[in-house]
Amino acid sequence: MDLSLTIKSFSFKLQNSLKTSQGAIKKKEGWLIKLETKAGKVGWGEISPINYEELKKCESILKALGKTFARETLEKNLPLFPGSLGFGLGAALAEIDSLIDFKDNKSEFADEETAFLLPTDGSIISELESKLHCFSNSSKEITIKWKVSILPNKTEKELLNQILYLLPINGHLRIDANAGWSRNQANDWVNYLKGEKRLEWIEQPLASNDIAGLTELATKVPIALDESLIDYPELRKTWKSWQIRKPSLEGDPRILLNELKNKVGFRTISTAFETGIGKRWIEYLATLQRQGPTPKAPGLGRGWCPNCELFSSNPELVWRSA
Ligand SMILES: [Mg+2]
Repeated sequence: MDLSLTIKSFSFKLQNSLKTSQGAIKKKEGWLIKLETKAGKVGWGEISPINYEELKKCESILKALGKTFARETLEKNLPLFPGSLGFGLGAALAEIDSLIDFKDNKSEFADEETAFLLPTDGSIISELESKLHCFSNSSKEITIKWKVSILPNKTEKELLNQILYLLPINGHLRIDANAGWSRNQANDWVNYLKGEKRLEWIEQPLASNDIAGLTELATKVPIALDESLIDYPELRKTWKSWQIRKPSLEGDPRILLNELKNKVGFRTISTAFETGIGKRWIEYLATLQRQGPTPKAPGLGRGWCPNCELFSSNPELVWRSA
């Protein structure tokens, strides 16, 4: 089957800069793609790398692909492409094959059903307080995600005590170190938090390649892998505790789609800040996650992307506004 490919570039700034222990994310850029069969079936995709090297790699592969190619060639090469490119092309192929029907996806997530990402600047506690105020009349349980290893350790330990003091008994806390801790530091936090019922998990406390260290920590508290799953995709098959799955970065989404359709647990869905075209997938997969054996609030990054047509759920509108 021959396919034709049309590409459009996009870029946008996040509403706030997101600090992590590995640097700040201020904007996203990449390409929207429209893949079309000779019979006129259309699939949309988004290629939105998180780092510059991958962006450049995707650019040269896209150029080499050309405007028309055989599907067989694409399928053969897809697993070798960078994760963000694999996502965009795999998503478009899945849509062409009607593996997903976005019209099925009627269960929109209310804001209270998604994890609330605390700001990464000085307003952490006041933002938490105002969020808790919004939840005070809701029957929903609040899930907080907090990025650490940004401020001095002592300051963050003090913040932890304040957060634990404020968080209600049925609240949930996710702590994300973005691979920023040493083993000593991680052990210190893990020992402090051991037995804390509101801790859902600590995300990527150690470097992505320190699998022995991560495995050891996971004997004490739930440890969720994020960066490790991107750098070492084979861990997606073997890591038994939580997996933070970022579909738009991890490659062909048909693999995760199958896992979730087959009710594999301990996967949770997280955004890497997509346009409306990528966002349809994130929300679709998050809905499937919620119907699985271990439902969890997805990290959809609500409020971080601008409010305009580029984030519409209608791909035609997203395409037009790019
Ligand atoms: Mg993370």
